Amino acid sequence: MKILEVIGFGPVDAIEVVVVAYILYQLYRLMRGTIAVQIALGLGALFLVQEIVDLAGMTVLPKVFDYLNQVFVLAVIIIFQPEIRRLLLLLGKNPIIRRFVSTTDQTEIIDETVSAVEEMSDQQIGALIAFQRSTGLRSYVETGEPLRAEVSHDLLLSIFYGKNPLHDGAVIINDRRVEAARCILPVSTSMKLSPQLGLRHRAAVGLTEQTDAFVVVVSEETGDISVSRDGALISNITPEELRTYLVSALTGKPASQASVTG
Ligand code: ATP
Ligand code: MG
Repeated sequence: MKILEVIGFGPVDAIEVVVVAYILYQLYRLMRGTIAVQIALGLGALFLVQEIVDLAGMTVLPKVFDYLNQVFVLAVIIIFQPEIRRLLLLLGKNPIIRRFVSTTDQTEIIDETVSAVEEMSDQQIGALIAFQRSTGLRSYVETGEPLRAEVSHDLLLSIFYGKNPLHDGAVIINDRRVEAARCILPVSTSMKLSPQLGLRHRAAVGLTEQTDAFVVVVSEETGDISVSRDGALISNITPEELRTYLVSALTGKPASQASVTG
């Protein structure tokens, strides 16, 4: 303890160490399995070199690093934009705020969606349906064809029917309405996902990595139903499980079975 007193390490410093360690650990958890980890290691190495250069009393190199530092903050924001976004999103998922959001009755659109998905699964019609929650999806809606039509079994089925010009891409649903079809979603580059997964599934995960949307996928190849939320993909679920997930995602009611795995 004596040595700690000599170097002036007090309780405040101890708290600081714990807080910094916690933040770094949370950042690491957020970035784990993504390319961002390698970038962070690279930046860490650069920082270490800078410290050594400073300690060694060099004169020119510190100047170079000074210039680098000026663009450093901007570079970090640009490089880690998806991670920063996810972190802020996590902070914004306050249950108190969520309580004020979805209040409308969603039973009907859940019924229509589940029955359409069940039929598409049986007929192996590929589908990608994103449900907006608190994050606005306007920038993605604008990439597609605006529809603004009430959600129904028949509408969803006809959109994804292979000969329909709108069948490609994603449908985005917001508050009982199909806002648009043929929307382009961001494709996830996460290394945690199975390499066998195609673009449709990766686009579902990509959207839920960047927003709090809930996404349903029907595989054209296998007819399997999957859902994605919070950057995780839950594969091969039954229509009944889909209903549970939808209820939980759209009404905010806790659903006992609707726990995220994988
Ligand atoms: P499936 O099991 O249905 O074959 P998959 O995950 O293997 O799905 P692909 O076979 O690559 O995926 O599916 C291609 C289809 O996914 C495209 O025809 C298109 O409709 C949709 N898709 C691909 N990329 C995107 C994207 N970025 N945004 C929205 N939809 C996309
Ligand atoms: Mg495929």
